[in-house]
Amino acid sequence: KLVGDIIRKPPIVVNCNITIDEASKILIENNINHLPIVDENNMLIGILTSWDIARAVAQNKKSISEIMTRNIISSTVDEPIDVVARKMSRNNISGVPVVDKNGRVLGVVTAEDLSKLIGMRM
Ligand code: SAM
Repeated sequence: KLVGDIIRKPPIVVNCNITIDEASKILIENNINHLPIVDENNMLIGILTSWDIARAVAQNKKSISEIMTRNIISSTVDEPIDVVARKMSRNNISGVPVVDKNGRVLGVVTAEDLSKLIGMRM
């Protein structure tokens, strides 16, 4: 199986100008934990998780651009799922944005998606 077979679409993405409060609501309302941050051309520029929001509270940070991770680990639709699983485990992350060749976000794949897949095989 490839990432393209299990990708969660459509992507829920936001601009870095939204507030941390707004980002928190988007995570909760959509029951997600990985929020890709895009620029005005829909290009991926960062990722925000609930962990980053916890850090913002702990360190009294006020803006998304201060707390998002800019060094993004991403995937592509043609990547085998065992490769993306290894990426997540090696980097201690539980989700990756899936991008096209121009860096635009197509969706997200999470460790939850991978564990569901393994669960279905049993
Ligand atoms: N293991 C937990 C998890 O997977 O959410 C928490 C630790 S993880 C190191 C938390 C950090 O990873 C956050 O700062 C978050 O922005 C970052 N992160 C999550 N997914 C990422 C990804 N695909 N690429 C780069 N950083 C990512």
